[in-house]
Amino acid sequence: MKTFLTQLLDTLLPPSCLACDAQVAADGQFCAACFRRMNFISAPFCESCGVPLPFAGAAGEGGCCQRCEISPPAFTQARAALRYDAASRGVITAFKYADRTEAARGIAQLMLRPGRELLARADLLVPVPLHPARLRWRCYNQAALLTSRLSRLTGRPCALDALRREKATAPLERLSRAGREAELAGAIVPRQGFTATNQTVLLIDDVMTTGTTANACALALRAAGAARVDVLTAARVADPSLA
Ligand SMILES: [Zn+2]
Ligand SMILES: [Zn+2]
Repeated sequence: MKTFLTQLLDTLLPPSCLACDAQVAADGQFCAACFRRMNFISAPFCESCGVPLPFAGAAGEGGCCQRCEISPPAFTQARAALRYDAASRGVITAFKYADRTEAARGIAQLMLRPGRELLARADLLVPVPLHPARLRWRCYNQAALLTSRLSRLTGRPCALDALRREKATAPLERLSRAGREAELAGAIVPRQGFTATNQTVLLIDDVMTTGTTANACALALRAAGAARVDVLTAARVADPSLA
């Protein structure tokens, strides 16, 4: 974890590119070279889960991908800024594991545009929780950092401890969809006493892979009374079937 002094220096130093050390004009920007490598998500994408679609006609009747049509997620809409690929992985990994916490402000800014409508209708912003053991080891929850940044940028209230992870789950990437759902069943619950009665809650995370975690969080928020749950992430895997 950074000391107060290094955090202070970060705010005094000229802003650097989100992906490398090159200087840029303002926080939350990529240098020209890194910008060219980033893949921002643009239409067409699934109306519901936000997964990029290969072409406009690939969506079904309701504008949704096949997966959402067959089994609609517990959240209403999910949106993300970047495709999670070799280029954006470096940004996210440095933010997550290499103490580049100052990137939270820049990454949160990238999320404003794809999350515009979701942020506008949100009553409350809530991060995807980390298990306490993982939090101790990593010192900070990257989703909570993004949530408080987005809350400051938009004036929307946030509840950083709304959800809790009851058990440490195995890495989900190598499990089948059914396996992931079984692993997460009951793992994420609302904090005791937390209610979101009739509220529209916006769930925040750094990366959406298959959507299983977001779905488990949405179920917990719905159990706490939320009328609607949306999801906003910095990046998402473009083809969850390959994840
Ligand atoms: Zn750069
Ligand atoms: Zn979908």
